[in-house]
Amino acid sequence: MTLPIVHHPGYDAKLPPTHRFPMSKYSLLMESLAVRGMLGGAIEVPSPAAAEWLNRAHDSGYVEQVLSCTVPHRIEREIGFPVDERVSRRAQLASAGTVLAARLALQQGIACNAAGGSHHARRSQGAGFCTLNDVGVAAALLLTEGLAERILVVDLDVHQGDGTADIFAEEPRVFTFSMHGERNYPVRKIASDLDIGLPDGIEDAAYLETLRATLPTVTARSAPDIVFYNAGVDPHFADRLGRMKLTDDGLRERDTTVIGHFRDRDIPVCGVIGGGYSTDVASLAERHAILFEVAAEFSAGD
Ligand SMILES: [Zn+2]
Repeated sequence: MTLPIVHHPGYDAKLPPTHRFPMSKYSLLMESLAVRGMLGGAIEVPSPAAAEWLNRAHDSGYVEQVLSCTVPHRIEREIGFPVDERVSRRAQLASAGTVLAARLALQQGIACNAAGGSHHARRSQGAGFCTLNDVGVAAALLLTEGLAERILVVDLDVHQGDGTADIFAEEPRVFTFSMHGERNYPVRKIASDLDIGLPDGIEDAAYLETLRATLPTVTARSAPDIVFYNAGVDPHFADRLGRMKLTDDGLRERDTTVIGHFRDRDIPVCGVIGGGYSTDVASLAERHAILFEVAAEFSAGD
């Protein structure tokens, strides 16, 4: 079986190439996947998420601001770019994309959104390059629709998953696990159900050892019907913002460890790409492609 991959050309909101946020990585990732022969008919295209979905994870006032492109400048500054029509549409598409990938994962065991992981968007507002919290929207919708009763978020982006923790702070059916750089952004972290703060400069072996020691615990504590996996590549040594020292092989081993752990237990996995910041956007896209290569290995032969 081929890996279901969710993508929309609108994921790339075409920010200027000089912008701190490497927006072109979404388009380049698809080129990387095409070169690998992974786009043979398995592309699923989302439609923009309606307010009704977004309101499940966010305050309706903020959703209205995003949809009408009237987000206050104070919040736009926290997000890191103006929420114009293209950025707004991108956020709606990425949220719907994670919803679609989650539904496909429930049907086929594993699926990935070629965007998503906007984990700094809190219930009341966006922040840190995140406008809307796609995993928050998708997890809340699955609960509402009765498609899942218990959900686990495994967030291995190098930054702490404060927005997702905020959205599900009062929701016992969603277990949030974040493993991140303790001294990295955000300065004020919002407690997840389990947080592991790692030191700057950590390398593959110590990182993977901590991960392997933790997965059984979070699985037992959450007993999930589905896992959302944020596979941010910003723990890589070449990342501008990450401060960790993981290698390509380390990231591959990380993704294999996480996806293998849950697929061995027959728990569906919905992958999202999360953060990755590099001026060499071509290399960055290759790094994000690792998730898809690993996920495809676990979707074949199902
Ligand atoms: Zn990040």
